[in-house]
Amino acid sequence: MDLKSLIRDIPDFPKPGILFRDITTLLRDPEGLRYTIDFFTEKCIESGLKADYVVGMESRGFIFAAPLAYKLNAGFIPVRKPGKLPAPVHSIEYELEYGTDCLEMHQDSLYPHSRVLIVDDLIATGGTASATAKLIQKIGCELVGFGFIIELRDLQGRKHLPDVPIVSLIEY
Ligand code: IMP
Repeated sequence: MDLKSLIRDIPDFPKPGILFRDITTLLRDPEGLRYTIDFFTEKCIESGLKADYVVGMESRGFIFAAPLAYKLNAGFIPVRKPGKLPAPVHSIEYELEYGTDCLEMHQDSLYPHSRVLIVDDLIATGGTASATAKLIQKIGCELVGFGFIIELRDLQGRKHLPDVPIVSLIEY
């Protein structure tokens, strides 16, 4: 299936000069959605990604991480923006183009040696995925790999990630 044909390009969103890859058009397509999750699962299995937990980043990461966790017989763990999770959290700050941002995860969601797969809808500069990896490695978990629906190759985000398998379904 041509998944690229289901992604809509929106110029100048959220800022002038940015070409936003919009996945909502893929999500609303029943066959496209099913195919994406099945293909994502297959590619993760082919790449030898055996995980106890799939960690997904707020908010579009949740959409793909939870069904992937279900298919891989793993648990799903949300990584969220500050102040959203109710129990005690581990936090990590990371650099943006202008300023910093922060991600949080429940302290009791992961333990040392858990095998973790990190999933987001898209990798651009790699900042979000790299910060999530640091959070997970700080806890002493085994990072088994990364999964993205879309990879923006020109931005070379994968250069900033640890040396583990990276699965991506669509490249620009
Ligand atoms: P990075 O941290 O620069 O790799 O950016 C990745 C994060 O920004 C992901 O959480 C994406 O959801 C979001 N993102 C960046 N660009 C796009 C886009 O074109 N479409 C959808 N999400 C995007």
